[in-house]
Amino acid sequence: MHRFNSHCSHTATRHSLLACGLILLVMGSTLQAADIGSYRSKNFIVHSDDDPDRSKELLERLETLLKIVSEYWRRPNRRLIECCVVKDLKNWPSGRLPQLAIEKIRSKSGVTISIKRMKGTVFFTKSIVYAAARTGVAQHEAVHAYCYQMFGSTGPVWYSEGMAEMGRYWASHNDRSVRGDRGPIRFLRQTTPPSVKTLTRTGQTSDGWRNYAQRWALCHLLSNNPNYGQRFRTLGFSLLGGRRGTSFQSFFGTMSREIQFEYNLFLQNLDNGYRVDLCAWDWKTRFRRLKEGRTAKSTIDASRGWQASGVSVQAGHTYSVTASGDWQTSTGAEAVDADGDARGVGRLQAAIWDNYQLTHTSDLGRQVTFKPSGDGKLFLRCNDRWGSLHDNTGRLTVQVKRVPRP
Ligand SMILES: [Zn+2]
Repeated sequence: MHRFNSHCSHTATRHSLLACGLILLVMGSTLQAADIGSYRSKNFIVHSDDDPDRSKELLERLETLLKIVSEYWRRPNRRLIECCVVKDLKNWPSGRLPQLAIEKIRSKSGVTISIKRMKGTVFFTKSIVYAAARTGVAQHEAVHAYCYQMFGSTGPVWYSEGMAEMGRYWASHNDRSVRGDRGPIRFLRQTTPPSVKTLTRTGQTSDGWRNYAQRWALCHLLSNNPNYGQRFRTLGFSLLGGRRGTSFQSFFGTMSREIQFEYNLFLQNLDNGYRVDLCAWDWKTRFRRLKEGRTAKSTIDASRGWQASGVSVQAGHTYSVTASGDWQTSTGAEAVDADGDARGVGRLQAAIWDNYQLTHTSDLGRQVTFKPSGDGKLFLRCNDRWGSLHDNTGRLTVQVKRVPRP
């Protein structure tokens, strides 16, 4: 099971007593206690009292993660990442783990401890991951360790923790879908989201799983949504590189309303399997008001979220909708038209966007007329669970007509 709540923290010291102690620990790690095995792969060395098979499995997952992470940040890992993965603290001799690590492991989370040295302008960082032996904790910490060792920093807390939380869900390259525990997903869906401005303030400290979940959601949205993905990656390089004057606001300030809208919508519809890339908001299509008797045509894909109809509807007017074609809401499902099946799955739905607010969803169908209660841009979609749009196929041609007054 994946968990969001790692409550990890990071300590960076420079030429301190702690640093010396850690160096001794690294050297001492070759002297293994009886119950602690050491497992080595290309990029990792894991010391653990957990079952050898589980430790080897973890090593494979860490390698997969690192491949994705180093491709994302476009920097291959150069230095071995050392991890102590603890199943039971009793198996570890006293002095083997730093006190901070013991505390974190007791609370079933982890910590990455780094030693940073500057030689002129070149930094040298050694990070050691300490993690409780439970799914996702070591992965989360490994992202921190990679960032420290490669960039000398993990960026501000919101970015550092959001990206590390993503790390535990980065299972394969092409999988952009949400995967998370029910608890955090329920929490995110039911809680009024914080403002993105508050969320990305600098100077925050590591805190509870709720904040971690909200940061994860923001990083997940921004890195996978084609509206923001490229810019977000560039922001990441600037944050990790400690470039002066870099902040979320300096990169995304002009898009803050769009991001807030998409963030709120993402959390409202959040589900396992949700695909941010398929549900990215269309800010580009031009919308027009229709003259009496005029028709506008659009194509609506079954596999996407809300899509632009191109029509700005006006309160007080009547519109007719005619949808032709059929679509499928899962592989092998029977094709249905815009009326959907008996349960309403596959039915054509509408919502009206106005000034960054979206109305409640209304059911349309193959042939309906409606009178909007307010002005706004008409968006359409195929009714299906938000978490299972990816396997939908087919599209409808939808004609929206402004009905002449009698
Ligand atoms: Zn962390």
